[in-house]
Amino acid sequence: MTIYVTGHSNPDTDSVTAAIGLATLLNAQGQDAKACMQTSLDKLNPESTVVLERFGLTAPEEMNDVAGKTVALVDFSDIGQGPAGITEAEVVSIVDHHKIGDVTTNQPIFFRAEPVGCTGTVLNKMFKDAGVAIPKDVAGGMLSAILSDTVNFKSPTCTDDDKAAVADLKTIAGVDDTDSLFMDMLKAKSSVAGVPAKDLLFRDYKDFDMKGNKVGVGQLELATLDQVAAIRDDLIGAMKEVKADGRHTVLLMLTDVVKEGTDLVVISDDAALIEGAFDGKLDGISMWVDGMMSRKKQTVPNLQKAFGC
Ligand code: MG
Ligand code: MG
Ligand code: MG
Repeated sequence: MTIYVTGHSNPDTDSVTAAIGLATLLNAQGQDAKACMQTSLDKLNPESTVVLERFGLTAPEEMNDVAGKTVALVDFSDIGQGPAGITEAEVVSIVDHHKIGDVTTNQPIFFRAEPVGCTGTVLNKMFKDAGVAIPKDVAGGMLSAILSDTVNFKSPTCTDDDKAAVADLKTIAGVDDTDSLFMDMLKAKSSVAGVPAKDLLFRDYKDFDMKGNKVGVGQLELATLDQVAAIRDDLIGAMKEVKADGRHTVLLMLTDVVKEGTDLVVISDDAALIEGAFDGKLDGISMWVDGMMSRKKQTVPNLQKAFGC
């Protein structure tokens, strides 16, 4: 019986490398496990592609339907972010660092979720607990994921545990300068040249159910907002299209990693509700939210409160 280990849809570096990491750990413990992802390699986000290449990691295989399969979930536990057939799969493990989602099981399972900045941080602890050495390439992937998820320690989601894990993993991976690794990833992640607006919107995008309302939140982490100035209208057009497909709201977080804030673009049936959620005032259809870096810790909780979840 193979355990297919998968992260969330539109996989980010954490979802990709945590799938590799957990599959590696399970294999070391004598289980048959395989890392998967909900995308083909050619459609994988550019940051993760750079990370896989840099550390010589094999990309997880594409898996978009898990009906009837045995699966382990990393970096999510929301049905809506899983592959098709997830409710007809047997979920045997979950390793995560988000709010607990709506996946349920019939049997007791291994479930480890911690309020830390990255699944890679949780996995580092699991390897230690199990007394299993992390292979150098896998450590490089997990290291990259922590730097990415915590925005090089700047995100409010970052904890001391994440910093400790980076200290462990950089040694194993043989990375001296994590700042330069982060900048290389940011460069790849924020490159917009020649990418269709809809692909950019979906590059790091998640749908949420808010009291029966479908709310989509995309995020682009940028070194400067100038990077998207020329394509802003195209992005808004793509958001409107996605909004028209049965959503109450589509938000796009244009996050300036250097200024540490977000230009929040709002397409919504109830713009006032969104303004209230972030205690801001829209200038047209967007507003600058100082200090907003994290969808998970800042955007989604404030939305949930506003929607009365
Ligand atoms: Mg993720
Ligand atoms: Mg993550
Ligand atoms: Mg992320």
